[in-house]
Amino acid sequence: MGSIQDLPAMKTNPKAIFFTDFDGTITLQDSNDYMTDNIGYGVEKRRQGNIDTLEGKITFRDSFQEMLDSVTAPFPECIDLLVKNIKLDPGFKDFFEWTLENNVPVVVLSSGMVPVIRALLKNLIGPDSEKIEVVANDVKARPGKKIDEENGWDIQFHDESGFGHDKSLTLRPYGQLPDDIRPIMFYAGDGVSDLSAARESDLLFAKKGKDLINYCVREEIPFTVFADFKSIAAKVKEIVEGKVTVKDAAQDGFKQYKAGEAGV
Ligand SMILES: [Mg+2]
Repeated sequence: MGSIQDLPAMKTNPKAIFFTDFDGTITLQDSNDYMTDNIGYGVEKRRQGNIDTLEGKITFRDSFQEMLDSVTAPFPECIDLLVKNIKLDPGFKDFFEWTLENNVPVVVLSSGMVPVIRALLKNLIGPDSEKIEVVANDVKARPGKKIDEENGWDIQFHDESGFGHDKSLTLRPYGQLPDDIRPIMFYAGDGVSDLSAARESDLLFAKKGKDLINYCVREEIPFTVFADFKSIAAKVKEIVEGKVTVKDAAQDGFKQYKAGEAGV
């Protein structure tokens, strides 16, 4: 059983918690893909790594390490590049304001690196971004180097798992809370970094046209499709207001997929 004191998002006794991936979900582009494609080994190798991960040929951790090893620019330069180029989902800001007003904590679970995510959130949302809890990998200096030197930084993974950051480790204790206090758990994601989270929420939002949909269909994991945060906001509001049950909403994805509306 999870203990409520150890769970930061339970501090305000919320009725629902919105857990979410960061890259390609809250943002339009994936920042790690962007670095790899533009100043690392390029889109072709990166895409092959994604496919190999989905097919179980390589762990996410190893594939991601290879991607980031190919990026040798000093860390501050990487942050600058990303702050200039990564855009926010146009519906996220309104949704985030609604979550603040309605006591629905937003928790980012990411395979990216905390300093990148914090810099992007601050740039895109402003000071309120500090209210978002971020659980992610970190960055460290390579032996004998500093992170602001060429080839000076490396990823510091969150845990020992093959995911690098096993998102289920954060989600599961919330899921195990007693029924009378357990909040509704949402999760939104788009790709290979979300495989460890896919089974752990009450309602999984999977991004239209992205890898996570194929994975959910193959593994028979219930989901619903989202195109942007406007559609997420509409559904989350309906559920929190009690107009739709999460169970019903979680059946939507397969219907959308079969009707050719999932973009894959
Ligand atoms: Mg993502």
